[in-house]
Amino acid sequence: MESKKGIAMITQKQIRAWIPPAVETFKKYYPLPEDPPYRIINEYPDNPRSIMFTTPANEIFIVRSQVDYSKSSPRKCQQLFNHHYWHELGHVVSKIDSPKMSAIFWSEFASEVMSLKICKAENNTPMAVDLQALLDQSVNMEEFDPYALAHYFAGSLLNKNIYYEIIDGKTYKATIDPVISNLIANIKETLGHLIDPPGFWKITDEDLCLLENELIEIKAMMRIRRLTPDLQIPLP
Ligand SMILES: [Zn+2]
Repeated sequence: MESKKGIAMITQKQIRAWIPPAVETFKKYYPLPEDPPYRIINEYPDNPRSIMFTTPANEIFIVRSQVDYSKSSPRKCQQLFNHHYWHELGHVVSKIDSPKMSAIFWSEFASEVMSLKICKAENNTPMAVDLQALLDQSVNMEEFDPYALAHYFAGSLLNKNIYYEIIDGKTYKATIDPVISNLIANIKETLGHLIDPPGFWKITDEDLCLLENELIEIKAMMRIRRLTPDLQIPLP
């Protein structure tokens, strides 16, 4: 269905129809624990192009995403949906029962890696994301944002060609503290080794602790920078 401007009008019915093939494709690559009811929990009656879906792996864990696919061709919209939906299904597989920051970070990172790996294998164009902006959001704001940092690493390790560095028509360059920048490079190296083996999402306790320490270091350095912005910290 096309609107006046040639932009696809994606309906909830259409989005619902994309779910079963997306689940089937996901299962070609990763083990879903069972066949949970991947049901739509809220259909946003006021906005026919948005939908909220849930992928409950069990009683405790529910993933929700609101998606609005209305700005592109139907094929492109389905590809964006797949990217998002595979990410959410990735959480079902990669969730770790732990309150650790690294457990949250890891599930976010692993889910995005899983989705981007399927995108690559299935020739499904993922959503383009600004890596510099993600980095800025991760470590240059008041609070450390492990979610944004997880997406930054997933994108920079797997999807460099798609993730662009333009925002609002301008080239965007985040200025990162050199010490924090080094810590980020260390984590990237750690993660680069972790994403290749089969079953990579099952991270060991040892690696999780290593990640935890590295993330805590970034957080601590952000705090030091906030408290003493003029302090010159020499490069390691
Ligand atoms: Zn996520």
